[in-house]
Amino acid sequence: MRPITQQPALGRDILRLPLVGRLLRHRHGRLALQALLTLGALALIMDGFVGPQSAARNLATVTPWVHLRGLVVIVLLLAGNLFCMGCPFTLPRSLAKRLSRRGRRFPQRLRNKWLAIFSLFALFFLYEYLDLWASPWLTAWLIIAYFVGAFALEAIFTESAFCKYICPLGSFNMVYSTLSPARIAVKSPDICASCVGRECVNGSYAPQPVIRLDDIPGGVPGETRQIEVAHGPRGTLGCGTELFAPQIRSNLDCTQCLDCVRACPHDNVSLFTRTPGAELNLAGSWPQRWDLSLLAVALSFMGLSNAFGMAPPYYALQEWLALSLGITSEFVVLLLIFAAGNLLLPLAASVAAAWLSRGATGFQKRDSLRDTVAAFAPAFAPVGFGIWFAHYSFHLLVGPGLIVPVIQEFLGGVGDWGRWSFSLDAGLIGLLQLAVLLVGFFWSLRLAQKAALRLYRRKALLGLLPWALVYLLLMLAAWQIFTLPMEMRGTLALFG
Ligand code: SF4
Ligand code: SF4
Repeated sequence: MRPITQQPALGRDILRLPLVGRLLRHRHGRLALQALLTLGALALIMDGFVGPQSAARNLATVTPWVHLRGLVVIVLLLAGNLFCMGCPFTLPRSLAKRLSRRGRRFPQRLRNKWLAIFSLFALFFLYEYLDLWASPWLTAWLIIAYFVGAFALEAIFTESAFCKYICPLGSFNMVYSTLSPARIAVKSPDICASCVGRECVNGSYAPQPVIRLDDIPGGVPGETRQIEVAHGPRGTLGCGTELFAPQIRSNLDCTQCLDCVRACPHDNVSLFTRTPGAELNLAGSWPQRWDLSLLAVALSFMGLSNAFGMAPPYYALQEWLALSLGITSEFVVLLLIFAAGNLLLPLAASVAAAWLSRGATGFQKRDSLRDTVAAFAPAFAPVGFGIWFAHYSFHLLVGPGLIVPVIQEFLGGVGDWGRWSFSLDAGLIGLLQLAVLLVGFFWSLRLAQKAALRLYRRKALLGLLPWALVYLLLMLAAWQIFTLPMEMRGTLALFG
């Protein structure tokens, strides 16, 4: 199967919008956002160590495990990967990047998403096993580990290995920013074709100042104009995740840092609006790789197991497994459940669906299992995102104002808990969850239908059915879980 790479249509240039555009384009625009979030991260660490060790009253637990997660999914859907853009962990990373100019490349064998799948698995496992949501102290250590990891990897390797290959938060954001209504793209491919330095990816750093004159296409066909390009010790960073602007087809691997925008000497790259999820409709916008496909599939199943971990049947399953297998270690029981639910099940489901759709349509010889899974994997993004959105928005909407008294107490005042302990109506939250799950499911179905039509034409329905069944089961399982009583993690003390 040979992918035909298409260029998604672009909308408005966001960086040309009056206020937001100016702020984002400004040399220190992103830095301001990062500085703000870094201050926030330092406040979480401080409260995690010296604040009250009650999860519901501590910034370190309430902020990341309740509010931030809820906000991240909303922002991803409405605006894009703004969390990675302002990520506090990239501030020490940028410092380290300057140290690592002569660093080495990340090992070839690890330049894929296997580590990202592992780190997501490890994060969700530790979240359950160590009850991270209930421990401000451990959460503070986790934030420190993030800072250290981002700095160390950036200092050692030339590319942004932490963001691109390891960070579980970044991996989550990158996969689901494929649904976002914004993306990086070039204004004129002709200018890129004649660009000498390719600063968007290479940056403009040079140990000694250098001036270069570039001939780039002018407004009139056949004419060129000369542009002066300066490189020097204070040069701009190129794309840390090594994306080459004119070839970008997907938000995967893009942290929306806008380094490419600042680095391009020809003002030829920008952030554009687009139809949400446009890239998922296009063949060839995602590389056909097992690691990438399984990341998208596994994230959907992880969404399910993360929600399941907060419902009573999960504890019954844990007990049943421990008794039937005679295992006394909670660590081992949890590991078994997580390995089965988050790794084996997604792998088995996608391989079985690919095998069935190839078999039913008679294309076993033409299409490999890998290519078939890759063709349908992008369609897991909406259904998976629906599950995460329904889960995280539930926790946010149950106590959206609870962050206020926590901040009041952190600042040394008296928390006005009575005033801020309001909640959205439970029935409304349930309806919203159902709506989000249904939208995610039908969106996935539509994407898979288009993939099936591309691959199987008249036999598309046969090829689609196994995948449709997987999306349906995911959606129904999520709905079943959300109708169960859920643990109010991080807000239990207030409602219990
Ligand atoms: S985006 Fe800018 S720096 Fe990159 S290739 Fe095009 S013109 Fe060159
Ligand atoms: S430099 Fe540009 S393409 Fe690369 S991650 Fe940042 S915004 Fe995305």
